[in-house]
Amino acid sequence: MSSYEYDLEVERVVKEVKSRGARRVLIQAPDGIKQYLKDLHERLVREGIAVVLSADPCYGGCDLADEEAAFMGAELLIHVGHLKFIDAEEKIPTIYLPAKHLTKMSVLSAKTAEFLKAKGIKRAGLVANAQHQGYLQDFKRALSKVGIEAAVDEATGGLILGCRVAAAKNIEDGVDAVVYIGGGNFHALGVALALERKVYIADPYRNEVRDVEGLKKKVLARRWWSIAEAAKAKAFGIILVTKLGQLNREAAMRLKGALEERGREVVLIAADDVNWERMAAFPFIEAFIVTGCPRITLDNQESFGKPVLNEEDAYDLLKRV
Ligand code: SF4
Repeated sequence: MSSYEYDLEVERVVKEVKSRGARRVLIQAPDGIKQYLKDLHERLVREGIAVVLSADPCYGGCDLADEEAAFMGAELLIHVGHLKFIDAEEKIPTIYLPAKHLTKMSVLSAKTAEFLKAKGIKRAGLVANAQHQGYLQDFKRALSKVGIEAAVDEATGGLILGCRVAAAKNIEDGVDAVVYIGGGNFHALGVALALERKVYIADPYRNEVRDVEGLKKKVLARRWWSIAEAAKAKAFGIILVTKLGQLNREAAMRLKGALEERGREVVLIAADDVNWERMAAFPFIEAFIVTGCPRITLDNQESFGKPVLNEEDAYDLLKRV
């Protein structure tokens, strides 16, 4: 194993950059992975490639810096941490690096198997993010050693995103619980909100197994509060998120029309980064609807000083007003 904690496939990248004849590249990565870019940067520079590292946040494959790269004269974008998300062609050629987390999973997979066995679980579904998808079969084997039947969705390869949980939905009926392999609560919460099954996290960063029940309850309670409060609002701000994979004009216009038909005032707001700091600049808005990433509202409800809904919540709201 190299000194990386993530496999940035340095030699593959160098080969691909050279074979495409690119002399200038932009590299973007999520904040948690930026610190591991040094070797990739050095190796490319050694090959005579002009490299620029993006300091901007990068939340998903929807958040592609291809326009920035093209604007800066880069001939290629290296997007780290996610697989291709958008259906459209990128503005410039893009290399996607899932950045596999390099770690030993034998202790955690055995611990997860014992944990599930103690809970009486007989059939478990397995899902993971891009960094841990490569470990799904290791977990499957560990679970089968203690007599638990494990399922990985074939259509998606068990890969989930914060907004795409088909890998869990597709196998839900045949399992007692779903285990997400990866860190943090973000992905597992997305699965838990979409499923009726218990969802557990096998976290390789903390080497622990935990559930997200408490967090799910809190998020749902706040979501219902937001919808109930928004129902009282007269002035709405509908936010168009200007990231390539998040812009949803149709939804924004549909919701605008539906709210105006119900006598509400609607202001359209464009934003690249959606947070309360930016939205607090519009004190005349009583409730916000975000038409981009559905997780912005779910994960940031508490930091918003006003009700904030995603597209799905907004349709629930329309049934009430
Ligand atoms: S839309 Fe949101 S959840 Fe989906 S990939 Fe983008 S940042 Fe992640």
